[in-house]
Amino acid sequence: MVGNWKMNGDRGSIAVLLSGIRAASRDRAAAGAATLVVCPPYPYLAQAAQALEGSGVQVGAQDVSSYEAGAFTGEVCASMLIDAGCAWTLVGHSERRMLLGESDALVAAKGRRALAGGLGLIACVGETLEEREQGRTEAVLARQVDALGELAASARADRFVLAYEPVWAIGTGRTANPEQAQAAHAFIRARCARAGFADADSIRLLYGGSVKPSNAASLFAMPDIDGGLIGGASLVSEDFMAIARCAAPAA
Ligand code: PEP
Repeated sequence: MVGNWKMNGDRGSIAVLLSGIRAASRDRAAAGAATLVVCPPYPYLAQAAQALEGSGVQVGAQDVSSYEAGAFTGEVCASMLIDAGCAWTLVGHSERRMLLGESDALVAAKGRRALAGGLGLIACVGETLEEREQGRTEAVLARQVDALGELAASARADRFVLAYEPVWAIGTGRTANPEQAQAAHAFIRARCARAGFADADSIRLLYGGSVKPSNAASLFAMPDIDGGLIGGASLVSEDFMAIARCAAPAA
């Protein structure tokens, strides 16, 4: 279960959020059995890593450079993220693809650097509303997954996660219904196998797009939905933990 905090918060509000998550994660019944990852903005990564140390909740970045190190103003490379306490990074979020013009090739290059540098990778894919309405959902997902195929050799299932995030469901309050999401996830899993991922059956596929405590259980009940990438609702620790419990209730 991954919380994407996007460009929200400040030192004080993030401290409150972290302490809520830390407190809830102490109680296994309250936390559920899901692997928990939070992705704060860059300046708060070290703060998060320190606050969550020993809690079992892991820290991820929202992006990573496609370069290794050196004269790349404004970039942050994988080794720096690890140094700040990150275990994971997102790449290919639709906000970056659309607002910052990130291409499939750049997303794959970032993924390659992340994996080579020792980070786990959470790669996002998903179609826009226009693409869905034009019947191009599968073609778009196939293109985005195929572009990640070059990572297949280096991406073990425990370090490579895919997130299906229909762009029309992100931050809109409009969620894919469980059947729509399941169909996309099944397609993505099959496409991973075709793109060369030997362990496609065990790659964790997260659904993201307006997940809330009220709709999480029905989404996570689907066979190919293994967890969630949560935006807005992850900014409230009680909501994030309530969603996490839906993914993997404690035994
Ligand atoms: C996201 O941006 O990754 C996301 C899923 O956002 P939200 O949950 O707010 O739709």
